[in-house]
Amino acid sequence: MADGSPADSITIMGAGLSGLAAATLLARAGREVHVHDIRHDSGARFDGDFQALENWSMDADFFDQLERWGFDSNAFKSTSFSVVDLIHPDDVVTQAKTDGVAYRIVERGTSDHTIDQAFKRMAIEAGATLHYKSRIDEKDADIVACGPKDTSAIALGEIFHTSHPNHIAFQLNDKLAPGAYSYLIVIDGVGLICTCLWRKQKKSERFLNETIACYQRLYPDMDMQPVKRVGGKGDFTLNGFYTVPETGQHFVGESGGLQDFMWGFGMRMAVWSGVLAAEEMLGGKPYEKEVRRQLLPYVQTSVANRWLMNRVGDRTFKRMCVQWMRDQKRSGDGLRWIGKLFRPSLLKRLVFRVTSPFMLKRMEGPTRPLRLPFRKAKPRDTWEQSEAALEVKARWESVRRGGGHVSFTSNAEGEAQEISAISS
Ligand SMILES: Cc1cc2nc3c(=O)[nH]c(=O)nc-3n(C[C@H](O)[C@H](O)[C@H](O)COP(=O)(O)OP(=O)(O)OC[C@H]3O[C@@H](n4cnc5c(N)ncnc54)[C@H](O)[C@@H]3O)c2cc1C
Repeated sequence: MADGSPADSITIMGAGLSGLAAATLLARAGREVHVHDIRHDSGARFDGDFQALENWSMDADFFDQLERWGFDSNAFKSTSFSVVDLIHPDDVVTQAKTDGVAYRIVERGTSDHTIDQAFKRMAIEAGATLHYKSRIDEKDADIVACGPKDTSAIALGEIFHTSHPNHIAFQLNDKLAPGAYSYLIVIDGVGLICTCLWRKQKKSERFLNETIACYQRLYPDMDMQPVKRVGGKGDFTLNGFYTVPETGQHFVGESGGLQDFMWGFGMRMAVWSGVLAAEEMLGGKPYEKEVRRQLLPYVQTSVANRWLMNRVGDRTFKRMCVQWMRDQKRSGDGLRWIGKLFRPSLLKRLVFRVTSPFMLKRMEGPTRPLRLPFRKAKPRDTWEQSEAALEVKARWESVRRGGGHVSFTSNAEGEAQEISAISS
């Protein structure tokens, strides 16, 4: 196939989680596998940001799944949490708790302990050949695993050093994170405050400055020495096909639209879809059918949730927080309410059927994707930064002048855009 390799070798485009998961299983089964990535390394799309492996949307624990598929869940650093501070839109802070693992925080990037590098090591050990800074034509790939193409939403964050103990906070606030949420993660002396923008904004960085100022107000004991600013885009598509009928190519992970449309969780489905694609290529069940059976109901539920999220603001966010806490009081488990939100139901299926034709836009492409457009800003998204946010901004500018790295940039209109790490 591509790269002059033998015709029965397998070519994968993208050495991220989904591509490497597929490569590992295929190579372990004795197939010749070549993975091509345009960046210089796996994880280079990210820059040391923390991401959450959620553990509430399905009955199965994700780490048990990883082990069952043959991946070593100890090969990367992960930190489990069973409690999260829930910050309501009116700044009330409550705690959601569970007896089990609510989620695990992992790091993305090119450091040894990241999940990306762990999957890279597993693929190499299995015998796959990885080609970095290598560009191939999409039509030459048997598996397309190259992450986002377009932008439906963005996330901006600041990474800092702190002496604050490990901590997680999740905030629903439509002013600071339009249509989405913000979060604080502190792991072993490194913190990340991140805000997600599900509406396209001018002067996007003011949302991050204001969010950091808010967390500083809510956690006055947390010291912060900013190190760098990170950012990334999410691409949300619902594909007509997961295996292209004419070519037999499998689209996995974010390339296959296998992500949560509501809040952007995607790592679990990335690995899962890579596994399903490999299984078909090793003589197992058809990928198209298995994606539709195992993953699509969750994606469709998340499309319905996104439709609902696009229609609400702080009043509904407050109601959600109150309901979440009431449910925890009744059931004794802080995961039950959030778990239900993510799980398929008849109502969500109905909302999905009725709303998705209006919400998603038909695009060109072999998988006949419907894309979630990056929505326009609302009049309420225009506001001036507070004094505290301006101080956050000034502090960051001084760090930046001293060499602080940033992985996003602004266009002429002040809209944040990912800086391509492709040439790095
Ligand atoms: C800021 C941010 C925060 C997130 N937080 C979370 C979270 O907390 N929890 C969660 O579960 N998910 C989160 N996600 C989503 C998650 O990162 C993705 O769903 C997941 O990484 C998708 O895996 P993938 O294998 O499809 O793509 P990736 O892991 O991104 O890998 C794609 C690979 O393809 C390569 N590539 C791109 N173009 C080409 C090309 N033309 N040719 C060859 N290679 C190419 C890239 O360099 C990259 O290595 C977040 C996303 C962002 C942007």
